[in-house]
Amino acid sequence: MPGEIILVDGDQTDLGSLQKYRARGGYAAFERILKDKADPVELRETVKSSALRGRGGAGFPTGLKWGFIPPNIKGDVYLVCNADEGEPGTFKDRQIIQQNPHVLIEGMAIAAYMMGATVGYIYIHGEIYEDYLHLEKMVAEAYAAGLLGADIQGSGFGFELHIHCGWGAYICGEETALLESIEGKKGQPRNKPPFPASFGLFGRPTTINNVETFACVPYIVTEGGGAFLEKGKPNNGGTKIFSVSGHVERPGNYEIDLGTPFAELLEMAGGVRAGHRLKAVIPGGSSTPVLPAAVAMEMTMDYDSIAKAGSMLGAGSVIVMDETTCMVTALQRLSYFYHEESCGQCTPCREGTGWLWRMVKRLRDGEGRPEDLEQLRSVARNIDGHTICALGAAAAMPVLSFLKHFGEEFEHAAEHGSLLVTTGYGC
Ligand code: SF4
Repeated sequence: MPGEIILVDGDQTDLGSLQKYRARGGYAAFERILKDKADPVELRETVKSSALRGRGGAGFPTGLKWGFIPPNIKGDVYLVCNADEGEPGTFKDRQIIQQNPHVLIEGMAIAAYMMGATVGYIYIHGEIYEDYLHLEKMVAEAYAAGLLGADIQGSGFGFELHIHCGWGAYICGEETALLESIEGKKGQPRNKPPFPASFGLFGRPTTINNVETFACVPYIVTEGGGAFLEKGKPNNGGTKIFSVSGHVERPGNYEIDLGTPFAELLEMAGGVRAGHRLKAVIPGGSSTPVLPAAVAMEMTMDYDSIAKAGSMLGAGSVIVMDETTCMVTALQRLSYFYHEESCGQCTPCREGTGWLWRMVKRLRDGEGRPEDLEQLRSVARNIDGHTICALGAAAAMPVLSFLKHFGEEFEHAAEHGSLLVTTGYGC
């Protein structure tokens, strides 16, 4: 079913100004919290009861995460929004920033109140520079209206919000690399522990969440955790924006209740392009395991169902492939992306991603060897779980899943020096 928490009226209504957002009741939740001097602990319990899970990829329970910030800390506590949306297939946060930016700003202000955060950053990547400028304007509007800054509306609560423009390195979407980048250092992931809740931005307690996660908060505190939960299913509360791309008639962002069948989402996107049939689906962004059509058509779009099907909801970036797709070519492109974006800090990722790409390319170019398939699996397994951050696993998972579900295409390439599917783009 279509949901309407963030993308109002599907995506037909543009709330890209304070006036328009206010006209639909925007900031009422935040102002009421300030006026009533609401109890931050109770508010966090409301978020917990909503079963909101992080929308950036990990799916960690948000209310639980927000409880990690120790109470009554002296000095600054930071709240960071990860708007560094860079994985192939993802484009939902950009639309929120364009069409409903104040729901993000209000969500951050309420979250800051809950955690006693004093300073916030929105980290947005530089390739969408127009959206960065738009967001700067929206934040300025909120300041001018007395919704950000010191002692907001005489409540004694203050929250300063800054926008930080990154320059497009995929790895800066990893939360600790993002913190390093804000600090003016090379964007490379930190070893953990310590985790950001205790040692985050500038060494201070920090919480980091995705754009869509914050955007859910005004609805949750207005309507209650139960109302949000009911839109999804147990352990998978609320709506979720899915970015549908690839071989569909109407690619785009669709906000649906979690638990909606994949078949319905596909139908909303106009179905597989005319005259073709579904071959495979990557359900959560390019780092999540690919699923064959029959499995995808049986799953519902929520964290648990997609995990049961053998993949991950990730950031909700659904890449649809029809029967013309050569899986060897597709994997070659994905492998190149992770090789190119590896920050080079740890050996299994720096060297392994290059090995993966070169071996798949060799198969694609008709120069493969029968032993390549086993060697690909071996290299992928030796990366997965042996790196500082999740990029290693992100590079390994597509390789293992493509080989698992579409092994015959790779075997054919290795044995015959040619591709089994030669009809698609790039073949
Ligand atoms: Fe860098 Fe890759 Fe290691 Fe992550 S896994 S820290 S991207 S080298």
